[in-house]
Amino acid sequence: MTSKRVLVIEDDKDIALSLRVLLERAGLEVALAAGGRDGLRVFHSVRPDLVVLDVGLPEMDGWAVLERIRDLSDIPILMLTAHDQESDKVRGLRGGADDYQTKPYGNAELTARVLALLRRRQPAAASGATGPEVFDDGLIELDFAAREVRVAGERISLTPTEFRLLAALVRRKGQVLSPDALLEVAWSDPLGIGPERVKYTIMRLRRKLGVHDEAGASPIESVRGFGYRYQPGIATRPQRG
Ligand code: CA
Repeated sequence: MTSKRVLVIEDDKDIALSLRVLLERAGLEVALAAGGRDGLRVFHSVRPDLVVLDVGLPEMDGWAVLERIRDLSDIPILMLTAHDQESDKVRGLRGGADDYQTKPYGNAELTARVLALLRRRQPAAASGATGPEVFDDGLIELDFAAREVRVAGERISLTPTEFRLLAALVRRKGQVLSPDALLEVAWSDPLGIGPERVKYTIMRLRRKLGVHDEAGASPIESVRGFGYRYQPGIATRPQRG
């Protein structure tokens, strides 16, 4: 097995170097970047299997880096922060971070978190082999084989998890799916992830779809106490243009 690559984006030199030693000792390849922009550049060249991302970075902070990476990729991201604040944790999860580690941390704990995230397998053939190849209701068009999504004719870019989530919802248009059911189809490791991940991924998906009805409601409807369903109203249309 080739070793997994970890990108550490951290401006504090001492912490960055100690993370490198720690993770290399765990058998991982480690790339370092000392700032947000630099981190994104290294991310594109190194194509890591996981990112350890400090929140407080010069120029472009960790939140902005998280958003950029999540627009493109589902790779595991572990956020590092100096404060044990609930609001930071919520913000990280909402932005699509997979886990969260406050400083100062124990070496064994951090290593365990990184290895646990890397152990999560990528799901195989994702969105289900049955059913038609294309979904098109005039608002949203999904090509399941090509994994392409168009909203009112305009191509949008989704991460694999977002695509699987949307595919599951449109294939069962009008049916309410529970968070547990969505975890099962869209994530490879539903046991390791709380239902709140579904909520935040739904929020990002709604934002990327950018469509609503006259009352401002998304076609991905929350059914309180039960889950979510794809059910566009008659007047649902794109927000932009
Ligand atoms: Ca920092």
